[in-house]
Amino acid sequence: MSLDHIAARKAARQRKPILSIRGRLILLALLAVVPLMLDRVRLLEASRTERIELAHTEAAAIARRGAEAQLETITTVRALLQVISRADPAGVASADDCNNSMAGFASDIPWLNGVSVVGANGRVLCSNTPTAVGLDISDRAYFQEALHGRQFVLSNYVVDRVRQTPAILAAYPGKDGKSVVIASVDLDWISRLATNIAKNLGPSVFVVDSKGNLLAEQPVRPVAAGKSYADHPLVRAMLARDEATVTLPGLDDVRRIYAFVRIPWTDARLAVGLEESRVLARVEREIGIAYAQLALFGVLVLLVAWFGGERLIVQPIRGLARMAQRFGRGDLDVRAPQEAWATEFAPLANALNEMARKLAAREQELRSANEHLAALASLDSLSGLANRRALDARLSAEWQRAAKVRQPIALLMIDVDHFKLFNDHYGHVEGDETLRRIGTVLAEIAGSGTDLAARYGGEEFALLLPGADLERAIEVAERLREAVNRMAIAHADAPELQVTVSIGVAAMMAHPVEQAARLIEAADAGLYAAKRRGRNAVVAHAATGTTPEAAAG
Ligand code: GH3
Ligand code: MG
Ligand code: MG
Repeated sequence: MSLDHIAARKAARQRKPILSIRGRLILLALLAVVPLMLDRVRLLEASRTERIELAHTEAAAIARRGAEAQLETITTVRALLQVISRADPAGVASADDCNNSMAGFASDIPWLNGVSVVGANGRVLCSNTPTAVGLDISDRAYFQEALHGRQFVLSNYVVDRVRQTPAILAAYPGKDGKSVVIASVDLDWISRLATNIAKNLGPSVFVVDSKGNLLAEQPVRPVAAGKSYADHPLVRAMLARDEATVTLPGLDDVRRIYAFVRIPWTDARLAVGLEESRVLARVEREIGIAYAQLALFGVLVLLVAWFGGERLIVQPIRGLARMAQRFGRGDLDVRAPQEAWATEFAPLANALNEMARKLAAREQELRSANEHLAALASLDSLSGLANRRALDARLSAEWQRAAKVRQPIALLMIDVDHFKLFNDHYGHVEGDETLRRIGTVLAEIAGSGTDLAARYGGEEFALLLPGADLERAIEVAERLREAVNRMAIAHADAPELQVTVSIGVAAMMAHPVEQAARLIEAADAGLYAAKRRGRNAVVAHAATGTTPEAAAG
């Protein structure tokens, strides 16, 4: 393939539009719709983020409230212990009295599990729970700290040795310096905290101590309390900071949005978690619906663009193109329908119609000019008779027709006698005039029917007689010969001293497999015989092709 070819192909490829009009329309619709959709999606995603933030805030508020409640509890306990220690507990410690008054304190305050007085050796002197008396707590750090530091001390969260439940133990040194008043505060408030949170958010509340031991949990899971979660990612995150929110799998592996705070006075952390999937359930559903609406809207826009484009653009263009095609195929009457064209198509339709009208008119002009030319081309200019070409065409058509309807067909070949001599004597112009006059006589004899008079060439004429048998053809030939004689055109060099014609006649039954040329040959043979017979004669050649026979002379 030559370089030119390659370049032409490349150019054609470049010229080819990448997108149809409808494709472009859809692209436009998408360009209009997509930013709207993206904006909507952005809003939806923002609402999801907002919901998560809200859950964070909510969880943090609950956690903080829990911590504050705990602080309040601790403050109350501190005040209580202060009051007890002023009463010089070690001195009052006739055990029974002491036990009773401790029970009194404990029963006054609902979340107080126990109140005890512990001696300097770490043994419980008296307690609201009498079985605790004698118990040794000298190993507890908070006890030592209160005894020697002589100040209010709050334990880490520990498991209460008396009740075996998680608790905070508060210790306050006695006035005498030889005893410590301790109170055990239960962690029941955690469950109260948890009940305040809507159940449908799958809440979880728990407390871990500074070592990552689970002290309390709501809802309670079996075999969880006291367990160490120091390696749990959530607990690690909690112990690393005082206060924060994180989204992580909880202790029960359910992913939650957690807020945690350090409980004041302690190193324990309180965590409040809301189940992420439940928090997001509604917003996710809304987002799902919104996406479905967006998709529906998008599909709707595409459909409108597709069918609208089809109806408004593609169909009119196809209609006009069809019209142009039909016009190109020669249907000159086709016109764009008089329908309500869109403003942009009306000029095109009108222009096409106008073009069609003009082309149709021009075609009509051309056709008549052609007909005129065709007529001219089949006429002999001198005599005004049909020329040889027209005669041949007509003969072959009539031959076929005659063969079909089984009719005879006859031909006369007419030749002016001694015409060369005439020309030599009278001149060419006079010769032409004579030919013209003979032509006129021939035309008159042919009449206006199916007979065709023609100038065959030079001073030779022919007369085609469709449907004529030999008899009639001879009769016509005689009439012609006599008519020429009657004109009595002077011809000084001819034996008869006037212009005469010789006529060969042939008639035959046309046969489809035979050629019309046979008729001409036969008439020519007749003419030849007429000349030999001395001219000014009619000689017929029989239809069967037998010897020429004289008719007249
Ligand atoms: P014959 O009787 O044997 O037919 O003799 P002829 O002289 O007619 O025959 P020939 O074929 O020898 O000559 C025909 C003459 O016809 C020759 C030519 O001068 C003349 N002729 C042919 N066409 C025209 C024409 O268009 N105009 C004129 N004036 N003469 C023509
Ligand atoms: Mg001749
Ligand atoms: Mg002649």
